[in-house]
Amino acid sequence: TRTHDEEDLPHATKKTMADHLRKYESLFTLTPQRMRMIVEAFKDTLELGLQKHDQVVPMIPTFVFGWPTGKERGDYLAVDLGGTNLRVCLVTLQGEGKFEITQSKYRLSEEQKQEDGQKLFDFCAECLKTFIDSNIKEGTIKEGQELPLGFTFSYPCSQERIDHGQLIRWTKGFGVTNTEGRDVAAMFIESLGKADIPVTLTALINDTTGTLIASHYVNPRTKIAVIFGTGCNAAYMEKMGNVEKSKSLGIKDDAEMAINCEWGAFDSFEHEHLPRTKYDKVVDETSNKPGEQAFEKLISGRYLGEILRLVICELIDEGVLFLGQNTYKLEAPYVFDTAFLSLMESDPTDELLMIIGIFTHFFAVETTLAERQFFRALAMLIGKRAARLSACGIAAIVSKMGYLEEGCSVGADGSLYNKYPGFADRIHEGLIDIFGEKGKNIVTHHAEDGSGVGSAIIAAMTKERKDAGLY
Ligand code: BGC
Ligand code: MG
Repeated sequence: TRTHDEEDLPHATKKTMADHLRKYESLFTLTPQRMRMIVEAFKDTLELGLQKHDQVVPMIPTFVFGWPTGKERGDYLAVDLGGTNLRVCLVTLQGEGKFEITQSKYRLSEEQKQEDGQKLFDFCAECLKTFIDSNIKEGTIKEGQELPLGFTFSYPCSQERIDHGQLIRWTKGFGVTNTEGRDVAAMFIESLGKADIPVTLTALINDTTGTLIASHYVNPRTKIAVIFGTGCNAAYMEKMGNVEKSKSLGIKDDAEMAINCEWGAFDSFEHEHLPRTKYDKVVDETSNKPGEQAFEKLISGRYLGEILRLVICELIDEGVLFLGQNTYKLEAPYVFDTAFLSLMESDPTDELLMIIGIFTHFFAVETTLAERQFFRALAMLIGKRAARLSACGIAAIVSKMGYLEEGCSVGADGSLYNKYPGFADRIHEGLIDIFGEKGKNIVTHHAEDGSGVGSAIIAAMTKERKDAGLY
């Protein structure tokens, strides 16, 4: 059999790959100047969302009032419907920033992400029931004990109370029917009733809000929370006096409330501010939500692999890559997982053996070293752009809130943040490019589990407020 080595190829190959790379470098690189422009536009968008209802970036008041004291205690259940998994947790808050957690994960099938909404919530309720039953058997939940439940539902929902949330739109590829525009808390309560589960839905929360509260519970310097996972978003604590659109609620100006920014929607529809390449436009146009989540589509784990795959496919079409090989496995949308970018960037071998493995095992194509170096460099460009744009979002909140001088801690979570090599460092470099040396005052750190523990803390805070006769 023919081996596909450098020697077999025309001498020009190596040079060709380097030439192509230069083109992509200029497409995917963000200069500090461009970043500062994005930050300015981003700040204006955040302000607008606080002033008026129904804005593209909705800046949602969450009815989570202020920070936890760290003294929150008790047993709580949390159901976490994120982008990839369903998770059910039992959280015991022990006070002093300490907790224990037991959990079960259930994978969501692609069908479940597209079927009927009530059916999806019925499934969540069934999983919760199984979880409670097995905890009763193990003695971790007492028979007949009615536990408060936090429902972490990580999609944009506008809220009138903490146990209410009208789904604005699905994100992250979800297309579940009969749900947009409806109160998902009420839908879930209906499913809980049908399954006869003895729980009270105390709070509906977003993962970023949970992360904000959970991070602050263990690290009181936390002022902002961000998620870089399947989707991307941020939350922070705001003075009600700055939330013009909520004045009619009659809440005191100096009261604080967490705001779920839903910043993944920044620059949606208009596409005025973000540097989109033609690959980004294809990702957008072929998605189930064209025009939406414009910022998220350049950053989050759901899309980075697809962006890289589209570049590869273009080079296949141009006859640059894999000439004479069967490339059909690379031609299906979303087959190139973002985890492959992480692996490619972290390949420690000179020959880039991990990259050989990815391409032969998953896509049945042979690569040359020059091609593998090119793929790695391309992954780096796409990963770096994502991190630098993330820095722009963080910088916009920091700058709007005036946190630069005193500095602040940013609780961060999500697969990209946690697993992509160098993602956090690139965010920090980006912050320095935006703010200069002072950018060093802003430090991200891996957050506590916001969707489980954060949900429980918020349920506890809510219960205390209710018991005290507050809203
Ligand atoms: C959702 C947010 C969520 C984020 C991270 C986005 O697609 O709109 O609500 O916080 O993903 O999970
Ligand atoms: Mg999650």
